[in-house]
Amino acid sequence: MAYRIGVLAGDGIGPEVVPVAVEAAEEAARTVGLAVEWVELPVGLSAYARTGETLPAQTVQALQTCHGWVLGPVEHHRYDPRLPGMRNPSGVLRKHFDLYANVRPARNLPGVPSRYEGVDLVVVRENTEGFYPDRNVQEGDAELRVTDDVVVSLRVVTRRACVRVAEYAFALAAARAVRRGRPGRLTAVHKANVLRRGDGMFLACCREVASRYPQVAFEDVHVDAAAYFLVRQPDRYDVLVTTNLFGDILSDLAAGLVGSLGVAPSLNAGDGHAMAQAVHGSAPDIAGRGIANPTAEVLSLAMLFGWLGRRHGDPAATEAGRRLEAAVHGALAAGVLTPDLGGACTTAEFGRAVRGRLRATMG
Ligand code: NAD
Repeated sequence: MAYRIGVLAGDGIGPEVVPVAVEAAEEAARTVGLAVEWVELPVGLSAYARTGETLPAQTVQALQTCHGWVLGPVEHHRYDPRLPGMRNPSGVLRKHFDLYANVRPARNLPGVPSRYEGVDLVVVRENTEGFYPDRNVQEGDAELRVTDDVVVSLRVVTRRACVRVAEYAFALAAARAVRRGRPGRLTAVHKANVLRRGDGMFLACCREVASRYPQVAFEDVHVDAAAYFLVRQPDRYDVLVTTNLFGDILSDLAAGLVGSLGVAPSLNAGDGHAMAQAVHGSAPDIAGRGIANPTAEVLSLAMLFGWLGRRHGDPAATEAGRRLEAAVHGALAAGVLTPDLGGACTTAEFGRAVRGRLRATMG
């Protein structure tokens, strides 16, 4: 089967790491004879300069015809919310394409220095509502300035979103258990002791889904305690499921546990489409220097190939994802490290090392 995959480079380090990731993914696809058409589409500040929109309508239309895509980081803290053309592409795309589960693995990688050993966990974050004002109302914005000195932020929690993200997380935990040959464990992270209605409903939904997965051990923990336990003993966790903002925060924390935001991938998954997107932001402090770590972006594309393999029952896509991941691990294990990991190699050098390993699998 042939795939159309959109390429949206984004802002800051996006135009540095995304092309490197796409070249590596292209090489992986070639090694298994997977046909991929890569479709470059405008997004972010460069798109705004040309079209007056950070997410042009043509980009959204083109994505409709794609099987999946990669979105680089966007520098949305710099976007002016008063300008209608400056929407946050990340939030709009998650909502528009109903990409309801944001899957963010954090695991120790070979050769990557970390204070911990044995970390292999996944944060599954609800992706379409919660405390995010740009996506939880149909019109307008769910953050209101009541007076100069008073702001009200509204959070949306729906039973439908809670149930389906819990379903996704339990199915993932069950699949991981089979793959790893050990019992699966799922932890629901919440603040139901304070947010009694919203998080209370989220927790009730997780419990309801848990009854359908007897093979997965279920527990729940308050988000403040989860932050503590993650730092104290991260290897006790397998899959964590949580609401949008908590998941955003805990997944950056989890990236810190395994060495760098530069190695933390993610996939935004829906039923019809999926979007590869590193956990990190646009890293303005290092943008333009050619030293950003492309690992997270490459591994995000490996996750997208894995998703395409499951969605379309296509072993070639699954194998391309597996090879891409193995090539990244191989390069890291061989000491090809960017400065965030204590090395001196550039973004481009890392990309070349990954492609070289992929080519070697063909020879
Ligand atoms: P950030 O993730 O951009 O950077 C945090 C730190 O991690 C910085 O020191 C940065 O240099 C480092 N870092 C991040 N990615 C790296 C990589 N690939 N290689 C090496 N080092 C890396 O977070 P921030 O500084 O809070 O945010 C910067 C901008 O990004 C803001 O405008 C924010 O709104 C935006 N942002 C976007 C996304 C997204 O598009 N998914 C996510 C988070 C933040």
